[in-house]
Amino acid sequence: MPRIISVTNQKGGVGKTTTAVNMASAFAATGRRTLLIDLDPQGNATTGSGISKNDVAYGLYDLIINHVPLASCVLKPDACGYELIPGNGDTTAAEIQLLSEPDRQHQLKKALVDHPYEMIVIDCPPSLNMMTINALVASHGVVIPVQCEFFALEGLADLLETIDDVRETFNPSLAIDGVLRTMYDPRSSLTSEVSRQIRTYFDKKMFTTVIPRNVRLAEAPSHGLPAIQYDRKSRGAISYLALAGEYFRKVAV
Ligand code: ADP
Ligand code: MG
Repeated sequence: MPRIISVTNQKGGVGKTTTAVNMASAFAATGRRTLLIDLDPQGNATTGSGISKNDVAYGLYDLIINHVPLASCVLKPDACGYELIPGNGDTTAAEIQLLSEPDRQHQLKKALVDHPYEMIVIDCPPSLNMMTINALVASHGVVIPVQCEFFALEGLADLLETIDDVRETFNPSLAIDGVLRTMYDPRSSLTSEVSRQIRTYFDKKMFTTVIPRNVRLAEAPSHGLPAIQYDRKSRGAISYLALAGEYFRKVAV
């Protein structure tokens, strides 16, 4: 069964893009045909895949607003292993234009009917906006990256409420695939406290794999590469490969 996953948390800087890029790369490394969709107008997943975001012929805007066929919007970034729907500032215009569409919540889902992928990973913007709603409506599951720091869980209630709303209206089978602890530092006392809180609230939905704070993960995007391609032996790369393993064992496929 193909699976569509939204990587989402409306908080910025929690590791959404790092997770989306590296999960996509890890899924592709297992031989599964994988698509990464950049839904954030900042275009960090696009740049981090080695694609110049201002040089995009067709991207997310064309897919959702102009109904350009999926295959025409897809790029194959060198060496990343996955395919990409690039995004950039035009996504902000798309978001605004969607608001006047009668079927505004379903535009991404419609664009993804009949796709050839085993795994699709969506990098969401840092906001619970219409793009994020489109991602949740189109997805089977949600991965929520959480940085183990003070205020880590703040805002999660709003996200969970949005997920519930989408379940009640458009996508009853939407699952929380897991909460992922990112930038994990076992020496910090906050880390164990935040882990305890996540476990209390999410129980088995907390991935046991953690993503350590790792400089290779932060450096890789400036080389336009996922960590697995940039430095396969780094702790960051290894942790995302382990996460993909846990994902397949516990969640799907
Ligand atoms: P978001 O997409 O949620 O805004 P990013 O994935 O862009 O978050 O991460 C925010 C910043 O933190 C980026 O500069 C990124 O390179 C860095 N970063 C993310 N995860 C890690 C990590 N595990 N170790 C070190 N730096 C990280
Ligand atoms: Mg991001």
